Amino acid sequence: MRKVLMSACLLGKRVRYDGGSLAMTAQIVEQWISEGRVISVCPEVEAGMSIPRKPAEIFEGNGDDVLKGEADVIEKNGGRVTRDFLAGASIALDLCNKFNITIAVLAEFSPSCGSSAVYDGSFSGRKVPGMGVTAALLRQHGVQVFNQYEIADADKVIHATEEVTLIIQNDDVS
Ligand code: SF4
Repeated sequence: MRKVLMSACLLGKRVRYDGGSLAMTAQIVEQWISEGRVISVCPEVEAGMSIPRKPAEIFEGNGDDVLKGEADVIEKNGGRVTRDFLAGASIALDLCNKFNITIAVLAEFSPSCGSSAVYDGSFSGRKVPGMGVTAALLRQHGVQVFNQYEIADADKVIHATEEVTLIIQNDDVS
């Protein structure tokens, strides 16, 4: 059975910078949990950041730029937390490797977990296309990253992959 990496805040864990969560009510998530598929991670907390913590955004770049050392993640007061974000991304990747995970559902717009857009570093609510640091690192290593609005797509990919595996296994025994 394929496991799925999920942002802890989407699972109702109160790990966000403001101490809140982004709990989803999707039936698919309930199903995945009952099947034992879900591996939860909050990259920022796993890296040792506190709850609550200062809001942070990627400044003049995106997760790929952070991985290349060409952009930083900064807190609203100007503190640089790039190293924590890189550490959290690395922990998430380790989990994918440990559990053979190739599919992740991560919280959109986060400087760690965003997969199609992130806040632009101005702390004004503006978003720009791009990924957070964890999403970028996972994609670089072949993990398909979806956001919470694409969960049905993630579910289709999981089941399509499992059907292929089943067919191959049946061919092997026939
Ligand atoms: Fe949620 Fe990811 Fe932010 Fe943690 S780092 S609170 S899992 S969006």
